[in-house]
Amino acid sequence: MTSPPASQMTSSPATSSPATTKPEKDQPRPGDKLHAEPYMLPVQPPPLPESPTPQEIAELSEEVRELAKQKNAVILAHNYQVPEIQDVADYTGDSLGLSIEAARTSAERIVFCGVHFMAETAKILSPEKTVLIPDTRAGCSLADGITAQQVRDWKAENPDALVVMYVNTTAEVKAETDYCVTSSNAVAVVNAIPRDREILFGPDMFLGSYVEKITKRPMKVWMGECHVHAGIRPADMQKMLDDHPQADLMIHPECGCSTSAMEYLACGDIDPDRTYILSTGGMIEHVKQSDAPEFIVATEEGIFHPLRKAAPGRTFIPATEDAVCGFMKTITLRGLRDALREDKYHVEVAPQIAERARVPIERMISITD
Ligand code: SF4
Repeated sequence: MTSPPASQMTSSPATSSPATTKPEKDQPRPGDKLHAEPYMLPVQPPPLPESPTPQEIAELSEEVRELAKQKNAVILAHNYQVPEIQDVADYTGDSLGLSIEAARTSAERIVFCGVHFMAETAKILSPEKTVLIPDTRAGCSLADGITAQQVRDWKAENPDALVVMYVNTTAEVKAETDYCVTSSNAVAVVNAIPRDREILFGPDMFLGSYVEKITKRPMKVWMGECHVHAGIRPADMQKMLDDHPQADLMIHPECGCSTSAMEYLACGDIDPDRTYILSTGGMIEHVKQSDAPEFIVATEEGIFHPLRKAAPGRTFIPATEDAVCGFMKTITLRGLRDALREDKYHVEVAPQIAERARVPIERMISITD
């Protein structure tokens, strides 16, 4: 499902937005080198690939580990990757944690098993390293929801405003941004900005509306959304709480897929007593410590793998069966093996873009630390 045009979002909580139609891709500027092998990210998530057999998983995993050693590569995997990718990776985590890991590694190559904006962030923070993404279709509907030209136009209409963008954006958009935020530090960042400065917030309208409610500060909010979290509704979550009276509801704050749930919680549409907004690490700690026999999880289904490993014997229930990101699931063991073996596909960010995009990313990391 793609994002509906803003003109159809009559019940949107966002305060204002100039977005009324699906934005067009920016045209590359002269001198920009976007990718070593040029490719276009898809707007629609591709169909889910077939799952490999246990024997294929074992053989491919061995091949991947051997190639990673030969090529001095570190494999980073987002928590929403399929289990076999998480298991073969050197590190798993959320986009911010993986970026920090990418900046720290001494490996020559980083193979980023996540979506494209995350791999770009790794390249921006580690420009001297080779960054590969195993599938060129690993886009993000939220990052796709705003272009650099649209940000420039928005700033031109609001010349005194500061631009605060969720990390789910392209490098070109980050280059136009004052502060990148994650959903866990967005409130702190907005609170740190003097109250007399106007704020342009994007691209996730749910996170923007949530931040407005918590900070009691009006902002101009872009009407973007992720196709996965658009499918997680408060009625689904409240019904699950009603059906599972002993369960905790856990909402993950780092990926766009959960920000609608945060907004519903702030509105009082979900029972707050059994609801926890937790990072990935926080979720894993929570399931180890909580006495609850069941957990309702309102985010992308890939997180179930590390949760089951952390607390075997507990029951994990998806808030909705549809919370599957087809972009994340483009990455397969076979694709990872091929990327390593054939040294493809390189993620490149033009130096003049990277230099500007690094500033809001580093601000985000420093506020997170
Ligand atoms: S779940 Fe949504 S926000 Fe997260 S990567 Fe997929 S499309 Fe982007």
